[in-house]
Amino acid sequence: MNIILLAPPAAGKGTQAELLKETYQINHISTGNLLREVSQEESDFGKKIKAVLESGSLVSDDIVLAILERYLDQIDCSHLLLDGFPRNLYQAEKLDDMLAKKNSQIDFVIELDVPYSILLDRITGRRLCKSCGKSYNMNIDSLKPKIEGICDSCGNELYTRSDDNQETFQVRYQEYFEKTQPLIDYYQKQGKLKVVDGTLSKEEIFSKIQAILGKR
Ligand code: AMP
Repeated sequence: MNIILLAPPAAGKGTQAELLKETYQINHISTGNLLREVSQEESDFGKKIKAVLESGSLVSDDIVLAILERYLDQIDCSHLLLDGFPRNLYQAEKLDDMLAKKNSQIDFVIELDVPYSILLDRITGRRLCKSCGKSYNMNIDSLKPKIEGICDSCGNELYTRSDDNQETFQVRYQEYFEKTQPLIDYYQKQGKLKVVDGTLSKEEIFSKIQAILGKR
């Protein structure tokens, strides 16, 4: 079972990915996380990636595809949860080719539908754990940590992503709108698209996703 989570920034992909990982035997791949790791490197390449992430634009297809391909070569490609990939039609077609070579394919594409005004509110409230990556939101009561700035799960410090600000959000949303949204049509035509109301609580969203996937 291979799944793509397709949604604009701050729609809740990361939160649902955590729940899916806990319930299903699945390899969670966030190209954003992989790129953030690279951006911490002191090399020129690391610095170049960091600058792109902070601008809110998309990293070039060649770089993202190379990183993803290297990763897919190391894991079982029949239980994938792709979060933040593909971001455009070219990436989607390349993904289909990469999986076909491994006798695999995408089974479900889950779109989390959240209106722009709600995303804008969520983006400034998002906090992530430095250690385990768990996400919280200071603007949503049910997603606040018990102690401000501290992860409920592992007790480590929370931080705000450098691209989680209103200015960068405008660029990220525009990129989504222009380049990623056309994928909705691409996967709908293949009969793989399922739309879930991303304004519901995280538990309600998860139970709708489970109903789509079928309990296993
Ligand atoms: P995310 O964590 O998915 O919100 O991604 C954070 C940033 O990483 C994006 O704003 C892009 O700059 C970059 N990024 C993540 N995934 C991709 C991708 N599939 N293609 C191009 N850029 C990406």
